[in-house]
Amino acid sequence: MAVAQEIRCSHCGAPVEFQPGELVATCKYCGFTTVIETAQAFTFEHSLLLNTFDQTQIEKPIKDWMQSGFMKPGDLARKAKITEKQLIYLPFWIVSIEAKSKYRGIFERIAPAIVKEGTIEKEYNWLVLAREVAAFPTREYDVPLEGKIPFDFRRIEGFAKVLNSEIERDEALELARQQIEAQHRFLLQQDVDKIVEFSTEFTVKQIVYLHAPVWFIKYDYKGGTYQLIIDGATGMALKGDIPSSKFGLL
Ligand SMILES: [Zn+2]
Repeated sequence: MAVAQEIRCSHCGAPVEFQPGELVATCKYCGFTTVIETAQAFTFEHSLLLNTFDQTQIEKPIKDWMQSGFMKPGDLARKAKITEKQLIYLPFWIVSIEAKSKYRGIFERIAPAIVKEGTIEKEYNWLVLAREVAAFPTREYDVPLEGKIPFDFRRIEGFAKVLNSEIERDEALELARQQIEAQHRFLLQQDVDKIVEFSTEFTVKQIVYLHAPVWFIKYDYKGGTYQLIIDGATGMALKGDIPSSKFGLL
């Protein structure tokens, strides 16, 4: 792989820092965003969701999560020790798109089998995570898009980390298409047993680059270390490891 040249922010002139594999980078001095390959300014909409917790306040949704649900040990909130609270602004591409899949297939659950035709037509704000983040539950993340504002680096906390995108806009669109098609094929299984024809037409409405605040929490409980991921905009737990309870139903 070629070593990338140093590039400078076309807005403030500061060097733009980026890691190998990152394709879109945001200047940490002024918040201006650059496409690394071309060193050109990023001309699409770049948005930000605001985080609503500081490092003390985030303990409330953590405790709430620990105290709720039947699957958790009863003493979890009391005995767990939070060992890490890291706020990371994750990069996403939000692809607003209409997808219309036409299909023809065979329904074999009755005799004789019949041919079925139909259409699945849906509108999405499809979320594409713009880099590899272990265990991030992208499909379960219902991004609170109502709260998005134009990207403003002054609203990013000093202790937070901002990750750059490892994929470009066109690639994000392609991924969204593939994932939506896969989802439609999955939905089809309710209706037909064998797909004979299947094609999807897409109408792209908008593609937005977005940074969203996500808290990565680690906690210890009875000798084990567990992770919890919380949406920094709403405080909702996105994913959490639950220690197995000795007295659980299993
Ligand atoms: Zn700059």
